[in-house]
Amino acid sequence: MNSNKKGLNTICTHVGELEDTQHKGAISPLYMSTSYAYEDVDVKRYPRYFNTPNQEGLCKKVAALEHAESALIFGSGMAAVSTALLAFLRAGDHVILQQTLYGGTYNLVNEEFSKYGIEYSFTEGWSAEAFEAQIKENTKVIYIETPSNPLLTITDLEAVATIAKKHGITTLIDNTFASPVNQNPIDFGIDVVIHSATKYMGGHSDICAGAVASTKENMERIFHLAKNFGGSLSDYTVWLLERSLKTMGIRVRAQNENALAMAHFLDGLSEIEKVYYPGLPSHPDHDIAKKQMKGFGGMLSFELNSSFDASKFQKALQLIKSSMSLAGVESTVLSPTQTSHALMSAEVRAEQGIADGLIRFSVGIEEVDDLKHDILQALESLK
Ligand code: PLP
Repeated sequence: MNSNKKGLNTICTHVGELEDTQHKGAISPLYMSTSYAYEDVDVKRYPRYFNTPNQEGLCKKVAALEHAESALIFGSGMAAVSTALLAFLRAGDHVILQQTLYGGTYNLVNEEFSKYGIEYSFTEGWSAEAFEAQIKENTKVIYIETPSNPLLTITDLEAVATIAKKHGITTLIDNTFASPVNQNPIDFGIDVVIHSATKYMGGHSDICAGAVASTKENMERIFHLAKNFGGSLSDYTVWLLERSLKTMGIRVRAQNENALAMAHFLDGLSEIEKVYYPGLPSHPDHDIAKKQMKGFGGMLSFELNSSFDASKFQKALQLIKSSMSLAGVESTVLSPTQTSHALMSAEVRAEQGIADGLIRFSVGIEEVDDLKHDILQALESLK
């Protein structure tokens, strides 16, 4: 059975990927009570080797969703990011990272890579030319994030993949903000796709997980490091994540619709200075987003005009909660300056265009009129 030929919601809902194994239908909480002590020693099943029936079933599903040959599930998005990056880098190598990057990934590179003798550069901007300008003889990896956290910048996947292939460089992407529902980077020539599965894959703000998908050969390389680093996901959470994936298609499509409606709504308010959403025709990279995304996603950011205080605004919201995480079914907001990008210096944040008054808005699946009403009442209460 080739599950890659099936539609997204069919892949999400069925455990059919397991039909060719003796563990058909294995993703169930019942399997978690099966002790590994009773596995035949020839099978060599052990949770840190990423090979319990639950893990294997979920990995096949994630691979199918990302149009990849193979996948691995990790204990967090950062376990996935760090393991994937270090699988392709060794002392003396150089990696190019996109300037607009999730704060945790920026910290990983900035605080850890020099200890391993790995050189790194950040792009100036996120155009394909900005990546090409940083290529050196020892460049082994290009790392992209699109749409990026929190400014929703869009990088042209096909253009960057073409440049990288010309120079024999491996491309990695953080596809968290798009989710596999809205963007499949492998179709555009990207080599390795990474997710914080804590976000849209989980979708209910109650688990922490990561995922990486690529060719069998690349995943072998990543697995080799992964089993030594020990970042596998517990079978219990594997079960929760697989259960969450069953509704990912309908959740994310509802979030796409709500986010587009909210972006237009916010754009029309005089109290809002600027809206960042790739689905708005005014977004500078709207045409690239249209080319490579099937939906524009549930994330947007906006800046209040200077007469409003961002943290007072967050407190005045009644339905939309302030939260560290994102991508759940419930709408949430946060200030990147105070949370996801807090460890960056003010200068680096300014270089990246992250204003103190910026609000990142993760749009949920509520009725859109209720979300509009909450924003309006919060603005009104501060006048
Ligand atoms: N990548 C992006 C774009 C994120 O937003 C996050 C977390 O917010 C991560 C990676 C890290 O994921 P985790 O918190 O699951 O380790």
